[in-house]
Amino acid sequence: MLNLVLFGAPGSGKGTQSKKLIEKYQLIHLSTGDLLRSEIAQGTELGLEAKKLMDMGQLVPDAVVNGMISNKLDANKSAKGFIFDGFPRTVAQAEALDQLLKSKGSSISVMVKLNVDDEELMHRLLLRGKDSGRPDDANPEVIKKRLHEYHSKTEIVGDFYKDQNKLKNINGIGDVEDVFAALSGVIDSL
Ligand code: ADP
Repeated sequence: MLNLVLFGAPGSGKGTQSKKLIEKYQLIHLSTGDLLRSEIAQGTELGLEAKKLMDMGQLVPDAVVNGMISNKLDANKSAKGFIFDGFPRTVAQAEALDQLLKSKGSSISVMVKLNVDDEELMHRLLLRGKDSGRPDDANPEVIKKRLHEYHSKTEIVGDFYKDQNKLKNINGIGDVEDVFAALSGVIDSL
């Protein structure tokens, strides 16, 4: 199995690159952000709880996202592999994911980190907010909070994979196609 963690700050291009990766490598895309937004759209209790935190730019509890990922892994038993997008976002989530995959006789193949500076991220997210309809993209204060959450809780997840020799850094600034070429290069070298 090819299990890829696509890592990077909000706005770093994970969603854009995921779309291209799914096509090229036939992997199942698991985005916790998308899964949460789908719960919100369906008006579930989980969605209602998550929305409060998401609209403030805060992370939702580890147990919630771990549970969603566990369900999706069970629902896709014959998959060739997965792209994890926006997950894991805390070290506790990374540990839970390792355990989940281990229990299925699998593991993470590689984490690819898209590096983009905060100034560019803020610019991209405000631009996206103009037509994405996402309340968390519309407000600069909420974006700042999300970037703060990323730097304080999520960025260290990179070290978790670095310690396992699984972290690859690529430049997330520039042409979408150039970023995709770099990303594909990492996958093809596995
Ligand atoms: P982005 O990476 O562009 O900020 P996402 O769509 O990945 O957006 O996530 C949107 C929001 O959903 C996050 O700000 C957070 O509140 C919540 N969220 C998504 N994934 C996780 C996760 N793995 N752990 C905790 N909260 C999450």
